[in-house]
Amino acid sequence: MTLQLAEIFYSVQGEGTWTGTPAVFVRLAGCNLACSFCDTDYALKFVASVDEVVARVRAEGGDCPMVIVTGGEPLAQSATAALIDALRADGRRVHIESNGTIDVALPDGVWLTVSPKERLHPAMAARANEAKLIVDGNVPHAWAASFPPATPVFLQPEGNKPANVALAIEAAKRDPARYRLSLQTHKFIGVR
Ligand code: SF4
Repeated sequence: MTLQLAEIFYSVQGEGTWTGTPAVFVRLAGCNLACSFCDTDYALKFVASVDEVVARVRAEGGDCPMVIVTGGEPLAQSATAALIDALRADGRRVHIESNGTIDVALPDGVWLTVSPKERLHPAMAARANEAKLIVDGNVPHAWAASFPPATPVFLQPEGNKPANVALAIEAAKRDPARYRLSLQTHKFIGVR
């Protein structure tokens, strides 16, 4: 089985629950959405088999426990399920970062971050371990309401702009059981 990929690199998770945790990032190519504001380069750079990706993860990150499979939309590729299984068999804790549009049954123990854009599949909202919402001039409360009450919802100010940071902090202070602030810490320290 082959995967279409944009990049594989070893860094530190900069956002959400696992901020500061070293992780190997596997960015799959392609997305099923075409958001006008998208700033992610998910263009196809290379093709590799599942085994080759697992080997590359080891080459980049050694025994690092955490692997983040992201995109684009990582659940849009049919070989992603096999990749998840192979990474777990290699001793990794797999995290998926998805836009939540494609209903895919994920094994227990796989961490799912959902960042909804134009639509959201209810099954993926229910499965999410955390939600990540972009604050850009307003707080998307309607998206937040799509997730179960116990799911942590991270408000991420677009571009780390002060006005968006202020909006996110205000919302979190008003509803502390629902919201947390998530800054893109990797951008502060200049790592990807
Ligand atoms: S869902 Fe995410 S990766 Fe896909 S186009 Fe939208 S912002 Fe970009």
